[in-house]
Amino acid sequence: MAEPDYDVIIAGGGMAGLITAASLAIFSKQNFRILVVDRNSEDEPGKKTSHGWICGDAVSKNSIDYLAKHTGIVYGKPEIEHEVDGVLVYSPDHKTKVLFDGKGYMLNRKLLPRRQVEDAKKRGVEFAFNVTVENVIAEDGWVKGVVGRSKSGEIFKKRARLVIDATGSASLLRSRLPINTKIQREIDRDDIESTGRYIYEFDKGAEDQTYFDPRYAIIHLDQYLAPGGYAWTFPKGENKVNIGLGYQKKALELRNKRFGRSDGLNELIDQYVASNPVIKNPRFPKSEADKGNEKGNWQVPVRRPNDCLVTNGYAIVGDAAWMPRPIDAGGIGPAIYASVILGRVAAEALEAKDTSEAGLWKYNVEFMRNYGYPMASFEVLRRYLQTLPNDDINYGMKHFLSEEDISLITQRRHPKFRNIELLNPAFLIRVASKLELAKGLKYTAEKSERLIEINLSFPEKPEGFEEWHKKLLAELYEAYQKFGN
Ligand SMILES: Cc1cc2nc3c(=O)[nH]c(=O)nc-3n(C[C@H](O)[C@H](O)[C@H](O)COP(=O)(O)OP(=O)(O)OC[C@H]3O[C@@H](n4cnc5c(N)ncnc54)[C@H](O)[C@@H]3O)c2cc1C
Repeated sequence: MAEPDYDVIIAGGGMAGLITAASLAIFSKQNFRILVVDRNSEDEPGKKTSHGWICGDAVSKNSIDYLAKHTGIVYGKPEIEHEVDGVLVYSPDHKTKVLFDGKGYMLNRKLLPRRQVEDAKKRGVEFAFNVTVENVIAEDGWVKGVVGRSKSGEIFKKRARLVIDATGSASLLRSRLPINTKIQREIDRDDIESTGRYIYEFDKGAEDQTYFDPRYAIIHLDQYLAPGGYAWTFPKGENKVNIGLGYQKKALELRNKRFGRSDGLNELIDQYVASNPVIKNPRFPKSEADKGNEKGNWQVPVRRPNDCLVTNGYAIVGDAAWMPRPIDAGGIGPAIYASVILGRVAAEALEAKDTSEAGLWKYNVEFMRNYGYPMASFEVLRRYLQTLPNDDINYGMKHFLSEEDISLITQRRHPKFRNIELLNPAFLIRVASKLELAKGLKYTAEKSERLIEINLSFPEKPEGFEEWHKKLLAELYEAYQKFGN
């Protein structure tokens, strides 16, 4: 048996890969040889595509605090560009708003990975830049390393006791996994949002805080501007913004057909920017901190996370594991929680000389209990919201959300819609024209309770997975059938 070159190889040095590397080094007291392999050059770490570090750049203070509490890693300026008091979600008619999350930060995604790489190096992590990983080395039902190619065309082949896949939403390693595994390899096309954004500086036009407010990250729900997704105007200062949107392919096709249009992502973003009366003379920033990162498109998975995150010698994290939250496509928070947990569990597994599926299973359990448990219910809510026209979203946000629901949403919990009283005749008469909407929302709330209960009973050991998984899928498929999606 060939000796491994490293204890751990982390494929992909983006948000998830770099935090996992740091977390592993910290929890193992730098006891293991860790290599991060990334296709970018060393002076452009964390770059998602040739068009830049494409992201909305928003992250909650809770997530950044979690990282600091568990690892001691604290970010500051310049990687944190701006602070906000929360995320405000507006109905399509701009008449109802809901505060999502508490305080948060706007990151500079180009500068943050530079800081993360330097920090990781100080903790003994090694790097192989300019290498694209193409596949895993698999033997006897185990992942034993990775194969890839350097920019100059040389074969790169390294073995490790554990391979961590953090290569983002287009992961080749996961989809090509050549061993028997509980990890799902593919995601449905309808569970992916096509997203894009511009970073602009601008002159202030009209005063209208429903369009731009330097204190709040604003989300606009609008099935015309962002079909099956949402649009965002996130402040990066008084006169600087990260502005963009995400849509579902199927929903855009329907919208284009209905309105006789042939808009694609960039047309949609241009229309969204033009519809904003506060943003006048938008132009790309000239600063070094934004250079090469002004405009770009990429994809975000908005399903629940992969139902299993580990197999023998291999684990997935971040977008490679479909971790962005289904309801708002926020993937930085989940990547932080998962990377910290994975770093700790992997350190323990290496210490115990057991990087098998069973040895890594605790990562599944702890991520589910700490973060993942409501995600299946958010997937169901997202699927339902995608079916609603603007008029229903306006009505639902105005009439069916109670104070309790708003408080639950602020804590990122599923609304209960308790003021939808389907057994009350007076209520039924009052909402007669929106009865189907009331029933649909109530259904998502009830479904959410069952899905959360199932997820909180995620099996402690791999042996219980099959039975648990059957239960989860049965519950989910019933909802998919009901919504016809
Ligand atoms: C337009 C847009 C807006 C978004 N807005 C927000 C937001 O406001 N807030 C939020 O929380 N989330 C947001 N997200 C999601 C968030 O950006 C991601 O969840 C997050 O970046 C995931 O980090 P990651 O490390 O898993 O993947 P990535 O950031 O994609 O990093 C993957 C890394 O792996 C490298 N890599 C990929 N393939 C290979 C390979 N084969 N070999 C070697 N290296 C490879 C890449 O070059 C990159 O360095 C947004 C996403 C998009 C696209």
